[in-house]
Amino acid sequence: MLGSTGKVLRVDLTQGTLKDEALDEATLHKYLGGTGLGAKYLMEEVNPKLDWSDPKNILFLGSGVLGGTRIPGCGTISFVTKGAMTNGATSSQANGNFGAYLKWCGYDAIIVQGVSPTWKYLYLHEGGAELRDASQLVGKGSWETEDAIKEELGYKERGMSVFSIGPAGENMVRFSGIFGDRGHAAAHNGLGAVMGSKKLKAFAAQRAPNKLQFADPPKLGELAKKTTEGAKAFGGGGVFNWGTSRVVPAAEPAGWLPVRNYTTDVFSEKDLFDGQRLRSLFQSQNYPCYGCASHHYELMTVTEGPYKGFFGKEPEYEQWAAWGPQIWQKDPGAAVVLSNECDNLGMDTNEAGWLVGWVMECYEKGALKKEDLDGLEMTWGNVEATRALLKKIANREGCGDMLAEGVKRAAEKLGGEAVNWAIFTGKGNTPRGHDHRGRWVEMLDTVVSDCSTLQTQMLVMNKDLWKMPNPMDVFNPDHVVQAEANSTGSMTVCDCLVQCWFTSFCDTETQTEAINAATGWKLSVDDVMKVGRRTVNLMRLYNLKCGLTPDKEKPSPRYCSQPVDGPNKDKPIAPHWEKMMDQYYQLMGWDRKTGMPLPETLKDLDIEDLAK
Ligand code: SF4
Repeated sequence: MLGSTGKVLRVDLTQGTLKDEALDEATLHKYLGGTGLGAKYLMEEVNPKLDWSDPKNILFLGSGVLGGTRIPGCGTISFVTKGAMTNGATSSQANGNFGAYLKWCGYDAIIVQGVSPTWKYLYLHEGGAELRDASQLVGKGSWETEDAIKEELGYKERGMSVFSIGPAGENMVRFSGIFGDRGHAAAHNGLGAVMGSKKLKAFAAQRAPNKLQFADPPKLGELAKKTTEGAKAFGGGGVFNWGTSRVVPAAEPAGWLPVRNYTTDVFSEKDLFDGQRLRSLFQSQNYPCYGCASHHYELMTVTEGPYKGFFGKEPEYEQWAAWGPQIWQKDPGAAVVLSNECDNLGMDTNEAGWLVGWVMECYEKGALKKEDLDGLEMTWGNVEATRALLKKIANREGCGDMLAEGVKRAAEKLGGEAVNWAIFTGKGNTPRGHDHRGRWVEMLDTVVSDCSTLQTQMLVMNKDLWKMPNPMDVFNPDHVVQAEANSTGSMTVCDCLVQCWFTSFCDTETQTEAINAATGWKLSVDDVMKVGRRTVNLMRLYNLKCGLTPDKEKPSPRYCSQPVDGPNKDKPIAPHWEKMMDQYYQLMGWDRKTGMPLPETLKDLDIEDLAK
């Protein structure tokens, strides 16, 4: 099949068996791969009544029809499972190289099921795949695991892609993730805990020769250049040239930088965290993913301050935000350390940042005392106490055991007023690293999305195509609802293909051309947009079967509270919330009482059979 290997690898860890399964063209045509394909397998194979840690849960990871092409960003991989935070449908993507290497090793996707009696890792290579002993890797972080596997198998840095869980995943910390290729993360909704529950430490794929066949390679080359030019130009080339690291100084004056657990929106030290400044102050080196010409992704050495000499990955915006303003910490070098240590321990930075900020607020207000925290003084901005706490959480040691359950569960267990200081969604997750009281579309998106992360994208290349209000008033409830509903599916198309969003910026038209050049199909732009919406609705159907009800689609009191200062202090979202939800359900074609997609919605998306 053009654009595809036509194969999925099924790994049964209980039996210790590996089996090739055929992937037919009609299925790929309907889902494109990645998240869409994973959602289909999840729906068909995992009983929604089972717990996420049940051996019968599957961990799917897949590339898409653009995987392994020269289109930038197509080394990305998408994971799908029943996740630990929401006990519902989950999809999370990691950039890097694995998606391309997976296809070059002969598979579009892997489905892992069962539980291994001993720790294993999966090794994919030109000649096939094998499970190998991972007992020597237990307790290692993701960078060490990557080094150890490459050394054991004799691969150089770029000759292999490794994604693994750290100690947090091994200990089934509920918000643990999967990390690889030097700091890329698929960290949302407890993927690492699912992998840990299966006693699977890592996936390792050789950079095998590319033997894939595509319908029109010259056209793909042309579209690769066009995609790069589009990424260079989008937003003035900010992400292309500087990554996400310049966002902190821009977010604060707009009131969407998370500061001190939403107790203020003022962070005077914002310019210290300007990525452009830090790239010249610290030593940084470009470390792009497969097929990407962007300067987004860098490795970094701290060159001054108490953490001088520390080497790791340059934090993304959300990591600067979590380990800077959110915990009231003002040393960028310390933020580099915390960001990398959190990754290496194997935990989602967003959840960890909200959790530590909440602990600090509880400590300040007396709801948590030193003796409750194994002697740690969790004062605002205390870097060494935070480092120690992260280790305790990853190892479920002492007070870390309760905190390993994430913000919502820890706050509900502590009870009292502390619940009102916690930032979370009704589904059980926390948002990405923004103050969404200044980004209403993203609060709505986070709350209604399948696994409480950002699922859609306002920053689409063609606003008319996705019928975005233009110009848009970001505090106008009608505009917010229209933007959220109309752009649903835009980012999911990237996750089905599977393409890094920072290279495509939801340029659905170019993506459609690329799909056709890779496969020889004749999909229209509308067909491709529909794949995104189909996948969103399929994940929703699964969540409804898991017990999702509309009353869980709401922000916690602190999450939707009125800012006390900053530019948005007179713009509370809470008074508009119920009406916005009514309008949103209507635009999405969902029943307001049950949350169920209406029969005509399912018919339009051709998934009526899966709703039964
Ligand atoms: S934009 Fe960044 S994350 Fe995306 S493919 Fe390029 S280097 Fe990787």
